[in-house]
Amino acid sequence: MTSSPFDAWITNDDEVTSLLSQEWQRQTTTLQLIASENFASPAVLAATGSILTNKYAEGYPGRRYYGGNQVVDEVEDLARRRLTALFGADHANVQPHSGANANVAVYQALLEPGDTILAMRLDQGGHLTHGSPASITSKWWNFVSYGVTPRSDDPENPGEMIDFDNVRELALEHRPKMILAGATAYSRLIDPAPFREIADEIGALLMFDSAHVAGLIAGGSHPNPVPYADVVAFTTHKTLRGPRGGAILCREEYAKKIDSAVFPGQQGGPLEHAIAAKAVSFKEAALPSFATYTEQIVANAKAFGAALAKEGFRNVSGGTENHMVLLDLREFDEELTGKLAQEVLDRAGITTNRNTIPDDPRSPFVTSGLRVGSAAQTTAGMKEGEFETIATLMSRALRHRDDDAIVTEVRADVAAMCATFNPYANFTKQ
Ligand SMILES: *Cc1c(COP(=O)(O)O)cnc(C)c1O
Repeated sequence: MTSSPFDAWITNDDEVTSLLSQEWQRQTTTLQLIASENFASPAVLAATGSILTNKYAEGYPGRRYYGGNQVVDEVEDLARRRLTALFGADHANVQPHSGANANVAVYQALLEPGDTILAMRLDQGGHLTHGSPASITSKWWNFVSYGVTPRSDDPENPGEMIDFDNVRELALEHRPKMILAGATAYSRLIDPAPFREIADEIGALLMFDSAHVAGLIAGGSHPNPVPYADVVAFTTHKTLRGPRGGAILCREEYAKKIDSAVFPGQQGGPLEHAIAAKAVSFKEAALPSFATYTEQIVANAKAFGAALAKEGFRNVSGGTENHMVLLDLREFDEELTGKLAQEVLDRAGITTNRNTIPDDPRSPFVTSGLRVGSAAQTTAGMKEGEFETIATLMSRALRHRDDDAIVTEVRADVAAMCATFNPYANFTKQ
């Protein structure tokens, strides 16, 4: 297939048609290892491309500022019902346009400007919206940051995991109004229970940002933070495999505040086509086959991390319990930066992203780390054996990065794998 079957209708715009075709080629002939990406199902794509994009629906079901929302109300209610059922939550807001919007809306709903939030350090795995100097969040709220434990050579206790003594100490010292659990570059399971204990000790709210692991939670591979956290915010497009967007779950007592913060606090009209696609993905995530999928994601990441370690790439924290592996490149090759590794792997048809690692001596633009994830290629049907092959291909391309012939050979091997594991071959009409 030379182009996506889903863009056959764009016949009057050669430029966009050509670009979509090029991107289809890229996505289906190279390996997608960015931990925050996935392949959404044809049903999700169809709903995202639906006529619901035509409708204005400011407000919420039953309380809209425009007429003609009878059907849209049902769409949004369906998405909310499916989502609360999926996670066992009191209340859902499915309108956030993105994970960042969802997070800011939560802060806006539950905090006053200047209030303190205790969140994970950005250079140790936290997200930009957890108080980056470049983000609006740090201008409106006061962030204090906890980190991970120091690295150790003891294989029983490798370190580089959330330092709960540090979380507690900082909580007692700064008395934050909110504690924020959740990360964007952290390969370990995040247990909500100790966060809840610390929050209770100081009377703080607990927010869980499960952007990366929402799918693993839905599939039962990670603990559900809903019983512990006052509010859970996440993206729908990472391991959850829905359309690009965000969502918020909260206890009933915060429902009104959360809803008002999303609209009219943050956003105007909701993207009802995206909300329909979210509903489709919530149904998919409730299927038994999705639990099998998330189990395979975790098994694949484990096998991938172990195979990469065999090739000389140190796994930060000694391994993985989720869908990602964070690699310290320095032991593989002291000269190899994250930036260079990402560029070389791009030439080899392997799509990754550079990432800072704990105590990284290099800048966030250069870095000494690389982040890889298993969610997308697991959707394409790959298993442990394929991920072990990818580890050897990565190693080969990076070792021989100055030899174009070898990088080209790796790219051909990658293309052969991708031809066998087309991401859209596995979806069946339900
Ligand atoms: C991806 C991510 C977000 C932001 O999601 P966007 O949709 O890119 O705005 C927020 N928090 C965490 C932890 C994330 O990983």
